[in-house]
Amino acid sequence: MINIVIVGGGVSGIALLKALKEDANHLSLKSLIKITIIEKKTIGTGLAFSTNIPTHIINMPAQTMGFSKSDKSDFHKWCASKEHIQINHNSTYLARKLYGKYLEEVSEKILLNTPSSTIVSTVLKDEVQAIVREEIGFTVYCMNHAEVKADYVILAIGIENTTSYLNWENDANYIKSPWCSEKLNKIPKNDSVAILGSGLTAIDTVISLIHQGHQGKIKLFSRNGLLPRVQSTIPTPHKSSIEQKLRALLNESMSKLTFKEVFRVIITTIREESGLLDWTLHRRPSITPQQILQNDIIDSSKTLIWQQVLAQSTAVICDIWHALPHSERMLFDKHLKSLWMTNRHPMPKENALFLLNLFENKQLEVMRLCKSITDKMEFQTFKEYADCSWVINGTNVSEDITQIQSPLMKQLIESHMIHPHINGGINSDYATHEASDVFGQKTKNFFVLGQLTRGVHFYTNAVEQNISHAYNVSNAIIYNIEKQDKINKKYNQQHL
Ligand SMILES: Cc1cc2nc3c(=O)[nH]c(=O)nc-3n(C[C@H](O)[C@H](O)[C@H](O)COP(=O)(O)OP(=O)(O)OC[C@H]3O[C@@H](n4cnc5c(N)ncnc54)[C@H](O)[C@@H]3O)c2cc1C
Repeated sequence: MINIVIVGGGVSGIALLKALKEDANHLSLKSLIKITIIEKKTIGTGLAFSTNIPTHIINMPAQTMGFSKSDKSDFHKWCASKEHIQINHNSTYLARKLYGKYLEEVSEKILLNTPSSTIVSTVLKDEVQAIVREEIGFTVYCMNHAEVKADYVILAIGIENTTSYLNWENDANYIKSPWCSEKLNKIPKNDSVAILGSGLTAIDTVISLIHQGHQGKIKLFSRNGLLPRVQSTIPTPHKSSIEQKLRALLNESMSKLTFKEVFRVIITTIREESGLLDWTLHRRPSITPQQILQNDIIDSSKTLIWQQVLAQSTAVICDIWHALPHSERMLFDKHLKSLWMTNRHPMPKENALFLLNLFENKQLEVMRLCKSITDKMEFQTFKEYADCSWVINGTNVSEDITQIQSPLMKQLIESHMIHPHINGGINSDYATHEASDVFGQKTKNFFVLGQLTRGVHFYTNAVEQNISHAYNVSNAIIYNIEKQDKINKKYNQQHL
């Protein structure tokens, strides 16, 4: 029997199970393949889609969020097929809670699907606390004392514990994660709240507070003081030449690629395709975040070519990142990452209108903050500086795995099974996702999927991308299984 253990049953884990069932079906093996998903919470939903707040919405149009690789409209069709689900079909950005329900149903179907009698799958509800490499394979140790033997292990656990500002953790008025609703509930309704960050996570935090009836002032603090841009509501298809141009750049420059060249190609493509994108907003302190938001809301009822060019760069962006020299990636992360995120991941118009209303009622402010201030400041000093009673960390999760507060992550690092990637996440092979140690040697048959490969793949924070990566991991595992099978057959022939 071949035992495959997937740790984590969110989008990545479920997508991998689906891919493995499809791919393994073509194998002509005598041995049974047993796939076990170990998930500590609910199968399918993961961190993003387990929210209970109805006003938390998906950040991409429902038509593009289908779980099926071949039919992206699958989620939209699923909604339409449910009579009891009251949705406004004109609203393309549906509730994340609803998407979570869809994922749960999709997961159930994938689990029940038995393409052949030689492939079985099971779920174990438990938290993995350690994975130990044995002479042959691995032993996976769970919190409730289960021990599972594995020939292949895939880590698909996402990143859930924000690790910045650890020194503030002990203060009662500091909330380290915006996803902890019990802690947010404790904030008195009229108290003033500072939120660190002004990206999509910070906006979700504002939505959570208002949902629970918060009436006090809310201030968002970030280094660039910029909110994400606003998505166009006009879905006119525009076929951009960006993928072709970036691929040409990749072929020409090889090891000499710089992110400035990549940006030059993106900007000139936007210009040539008759769109405009003002990258310099962050350098103009005279325009307030409220004014930018107002302008963006007006613009959102036009076709925004720049958004389509950026979105279509996705097809090649992981290859570009992989080709960039290490020094270029470091420069990008330091100087351009937040600007890229602001433009590449714009917010739905619904959220923009919601924020504008809060601005107009003088309940919301967005402030620019020099990073060194929060780095150097004590919690109390920051609270006084922000003039707020509470501080919530609403920055994106930190991808520095040495700071992740999980027993599993600590054990894997200490036992050298994994090694941190300097741009975040775990060092792994670009094509196969096989983890590698401090010397770059592959940790054989141990794979990483999802946001934990951010340093290697750059773009790992979208369902679509993680599904695509799951197929790469499945291909690599199936290849290894076939290779091992050939070796076993040869050995058996020689020893018969
Ligand atoms: C707030 C938010 C909104 C988002 N909105 C969108 C969107 O609109 N569209 C989009 O495409 N993408 C969105 N994303 C990104 C999207 O969530 C990810 O791309 C994708 O869902 C990540 O899936 P995952 O399986 O890799 O990780 P997760 O969804 O985090 O799943 C990891 C799973 O592993 C489990 N786990 C963790 N540790 C252990 C352990 N030790 N033992 C057992 N189980 C464990 C967790 O319980 C969890 O279920 C959003 C992300 C966030 C945070």
